Amino acid sequence: MAQLSDDCFAFGGALMPVDEAVALIAARISPVAGVERVALHDADNRVLAHALHAPLPLPLFSNSAVDGYALRSADLPHDAARAFPVAGRVQAGSAAAPIAPDTVMRIFTGAPMPQGADTVFMQEDVEHDADGRVILPAGLRAGANMRPAGEDIAQGALALQAGQRLRPQHVALAAALGLTHLDLRRRIRVAVFSTGNEVVAPGAPRDSAQLYDSNRFMLAGLLRRLGCDVSDLGILRDDRAALSVALEGATQGHDLVLTSGGVSTGEEDHVRASIEAAGSLVLWRMAIKPGRPVAMGVIYGTPFIGLPGNPVASFVTFAYVVRPVILALAGASPEPLVALPVRADFSYKKKKGRREYVRASLKISTEGPVAQKFPREGAGLLSSLCETNGLVELGEDIERVAPGDSVGFLPYAALV
Ligand code: AMP
Ligand code: MG
Repeated sequence: MAQLSDDCFAFGGALMPVDEAVALIAARISPVAGVERVALHDADNRVLAHALHAPLPLPLFSNSAVDGYALRSADLPHDAARAFPVAGRVQAGSAAAPIAPDTVMRIFTGAPMPQGADTVFMQEDVEHDADGRVILPAGLRAGANMRPAGEDIAQGALALQAGQRLRPQHVALAAALGLTHLDLRRRIRVAVFSTGNEVVAPGAPRDSAQLYDSNRFMLAGLLRRLGCDVSDLGILRDDRAALSVALEGATQGHDLVLTSGGVSTGEEDHVRASIEAAGSLVLWRMAIKPGRPVAMGVIYGTPFIGLPGNPVASFVTFAYVVRPVILALAGASPEPLVALPVRADFSYKKKKGRREYVRASLKISTEGPVAQKFPREGAGLLSSLCETNGLVELGEDIERVAPGDSVGFLPYAALV
């Protein structure tokens, strides 16, 4: 497990700007040790441990990009169309004979270029004469419709960077290079708790003043989408001794302990007290809405994050605090969240100096993509996350938004 010092999350300012939180995480968290050889079928969404240099060129051999007729560029007609005899035929998967001067070869997409040939006419562009010859028009450039070996990736070139989180296209590239296994970082193991005397598990008996736990399910899903192994460790009472036993116990076998609830103003005391003997806890007052404070702690060298209990605040702070911690522990290159410019269809006033996230749906209009704001703003409204498809990001400097203004939009799909 990564061993952190107790003061590693210390921060001097009053309000923690989002970018500073992300930078501090990148500086303080190092990847867990542990690399394993994994079959390609299991490599999706894992992190590549070492840079991968191409053992072979891609394409592996020069081949035709179209169905047509191959020839030597030295024979290309320049001023007028010219007829050529068809000297042979080469299909995908079969080897080609060398080409003779002043002839063409019938060729199909993906078939190897005959030795000496470097240009292909598309079959749609040629005509045929009564003697079975093909008539090639003038004007095609040398090298047309041919895919040279190594044009995609040269042999020995960097194919995938260390720290690349593998998506299906990265796994496809490794497969194209003939690899069967990759050296990947081990999965990050996260312990997840909910906290609060008012929180009960769905299906459990519930008093009139209690609510069903939703955060654990949301956080576990977000973590799994980031490639983590999740241990769902249930719900903790607001009780110092119980918290202390459970949180310390959870450091065994986990790289991160994550809770939600119980760290808003006043309440963090028993969380802090429960951690104090084994480590430390600081509150980051994030300059973010919806947000509230996020507790950053260290328990016996293992990172602890306490998210706010309100589901929307938990969701947003997950994206800005937990996600970068997971990527850093996993040895993944940072994947900054880039909001794409769209038009707002709403008016909005906000406080300068803090970043706000507005739940919105992206609609395509005749003037391009438009973000429609969810009509209500409560940080407890799960429907607001379910009925929208992303967040409008309003930067620290913005004070008001008017309909038609350009704003940044982050699709939920980009957060994991
Ligand atoms: P807290 O951060 O503990 O002050 O909680 C803020 C709000 O979030 C309160 O209304 C809590 O009841 C609610 N809450 C806390 N934990 C959960 C949870 N696991 N699932 C759903 N709501 C929660
Ligand atoms: Mg509470």
